[in-house]
Amino acid sequence: MDYKEFSPESLMMSYAYNAEDHQGSIKCPLYQTSTFVFQSAEEGKAFFEIAYGLRAKCPNEKLGMIYSRLNNPTLDLAEKRLAAYEGAEEALFFSSGMGAISTTVLTFLKPGDVLLYASPVYGGTEHLFNHALPGFNIGIVKFYAGETEETIINRVSKEFPGKKPKIIYIEVPGNPTNSLIDIEMCARLAEHYKEGDCKPLLVVDNTFLGPVFQHPLQHGADISLYSATKFIGGHSDLVGGACVGFSNPICEIRVMRSFLGSMMDPHSAWLVLRSLETLKIRMEQQAIGAAKVAEHLAKHPKIERVSYLGLLKNGEQGKDIYDKQCSFSGSMISFYIKGGEKEAYQFLNNLHLFKLAVSLGSTESLAEHPATMTHIDVPDDEKQRLGINEQLIRLSIGLEKPEDLIKAIDEAFRKVG
Ligand SMILES: *Cc1c(COP(=O)(O)O)cnc(C)c1O
Repeated sequence: MDYKEFSPESLMMSYAYNAEDHQGSIKCPLYQTSTFVFQSAEEGKAFFEIAYGLRAKCPNEKLGMIYSRLNNPTLDLAEKRLAAYEGAEEALFFSSGMGAISTTVLTFLKPGDVLLYASPVYGGTEHLFNHALPGFNIGIVKFYAGETEETIINRVSKEFPGKKPKIIYIEVPGNPTNSLIDIEMCARLAEHYKEGDCKPLLVVDNTFLGPVFQHPLQHGADISLYSATKFIGGHSDLVGGACVGFSNPICEIRVMRSFLGSMMDPHSAWLVLRSLETLKIRMEQQAIGAAKVAEHLAKHPKIERVSYLGLLKNGEQGKDIYDKQCSFSGSMISFYIKGGEKEAYQFLNNLHLFKLAVSLGSTESLAEHPATMTHIDVPDDEKQRLGINEQLIRLSIGLEKPEDLIKAIDEAFRKVG
């Protein structure tokens, strides 16, 4: 039977794993080893030729295990499962989300190239693009949710006359405001810049909704990218990242990963295998809870405005994009408390059940203040433009009973002002 006949959540317990090859162990063992023994010198040579891309695999030839920076059975299985989840050819896991992002962009950008990206992005990504990449003589152009293709194309030609972007990078929904960018519009932009076989690579940071509620590859993206620290790991006990897509470009990124050394370690990969089994029920349950919490927040007198995908109304900016590319609203809620930093901090300091911590997508609910925490590094004018002000609070809803979270929120509001 072809595995494609089954749903991803069914495959996460069995796909690509044969217990007979592992002493009958029902779960994939943790191969906590740095290196692997070759059966012969010839075999070692063949493995290296394939791993270094010196020749293609012969039909039925398998790449054996070499060294855990290049490959490892536990990591391999986690990668096969994530690829199956997205219906993609290949997936790679990294030591962190930033490892996935930096390795991907460094694979394809050379000095003199231009990167086009949609703001806002995760704070670390913003820093990498604006502080690290320009040091390698890479040009950076930004665009914003709601801008037209024409505006974006004009900005690129004004800032870098005669240049075409090598990578178009977006994060959707945007962190921390849940702004939406149209993936298909970005795919058209990439098409616009196509020249012969050369086309900008469209990379989508799918951390907030994927791989369950949003499928960038189905909307024309080349790479769906993750901080696996968040929903994929889902238990606040590992740091990881991932890239998913067609064999080409993923194979090129794999080679770069081998030499930057940004692969995931076997133990984290083993934890990821466990987490993938419950990914769908966790994400669904968290989103159901978040919808209830968001509805309650929207009615609260001490709140100015709630930014939650499930509350988008017809005609509002982003609603048409939401209907086209997202199948559910996820579990990230941002809201603007009435007042300023003082009121926001009073709320956070009196909030029970939630943990006051950055990160997101875990089983426990988290709360933070983007302007002075995750996004402290964003320049003031950019903060203002994106709506990241002192009133903004970001919640990540976990698996607690939503009614209990609402109780805790109401109690915290009573202490404000
Ligand atoms: C956390 C996060 C990252 C960075 O991932 P790390 O695992 O912390 O390196 C990138 N993008 C988004 C959207 C994130 O939330």
